[in-house]
Amino acid sequence: MRHVLLVMAAMGCAQPALASEPLRVLTTIGMLADMASAIGGDCVQVEALMGPGSDPHLYTPRASDVQRLDRAEVILYLAPELEAQMTRALDAMRTRKPVLGVLATTYAPGDLLDDDGQPDPHVWMDAALWAQAIPQVTAFLGDARPDCAAGMDTRAAAYATRLTALDDWVRDAIATIPEAARMLVTAHDAFNYFARAYGIEASEAVAGISTEAEASIADIREVAAFVIRNAVPAVFVETTINPRTIEALVAEVRALGGAVEIGGALHSDAMGEPGSVAGDYIGMIWSNTATITAALGGDLPPLPEALADWAALRNIAP
Ligand SMILES: [Zn+2]
Repeated sequence: MRHVLLVMAAMGCAQPALASEPLRVLTTIGMLADMASAIGGDCVQVEALMGPGSDPHLYTPRASDVQRLDRAEVILYLAPELEAQMTRALDAMRTRKPVLGVLATTYAPGDLLDDDGQPDPHVWMDAALWAQAIPQVTAFLGDARPDCAAGMDTRAAAYATRLTALDDWVRDAIATIPEAARMLVTAHDAFNYFARAYGIEASEAVAGISTEAEASIADIREVAAFVIRNAVPAVFVETTINPRTIEALVAEVRALGGAVEIGGALHSDAMGEPGSVAGDYIGMIWSNTATITAALGGDLPPLPEALADWAALRNIAP
């Protein structure tokens, strides 16, 4: 009997020790890593395959990525419509460990079509739409670490509160731009949800929803005509895309007698360097909003109380 008790005690000891090891989470894009870290807290150790400046539409797994996929306990990705070159590597993992495709498990397929009926994966551009993925990600991480599930629920609720505050603030910021200037011209078509959610009257892009097809001269001419017709004051480069597309657009507008500036660089498909203002999801959206608002003639409103901690961390005046 004594022997049995000792064995049971030994088993009882071994289990919490195993469970307290942080869950090794691997995500494709940084925005998912941010969500998993915010929800998982100390229960997770999160890594993203794609860093700042990586274009998820074009990203192809390297040899070292296969090892990282192997080492992970669970994997999060967005959708084949985004990480198009990752599909085979992710499918190979699916038989061996939990792999969550966040887009397909969160949204109804018909909800994610642009005006031309193309599926658009850029859901992180609308903070409220992005927050809809929180319950899926929380349940997925909680299933892998049931002893952490209660803490994850609490942190998930706090993260959702911050994203709701961010969503309200972005809408208020864009509303300060003079109505006629609420037009967003970018290198690729990543801002449909941003435009729809935050009152941008029209958005135009030189390249399509994916960056896999290169923009043509005809695309540049068409967008240049839009810029001139609407007297758009500024257009934007993107951190994951070669700036030469937008430079060619600006040259074309000027050649046609129009005036336009480059309004700055937007973080369309990747967050910024770790530790920089745009190095987390809230900062990515804050930074895009600040850049767009300043270039199109608006004024940033004060940040809400729910983002005060974030602002202090990033040295931003609330
Ligand atoms: Zn994109």
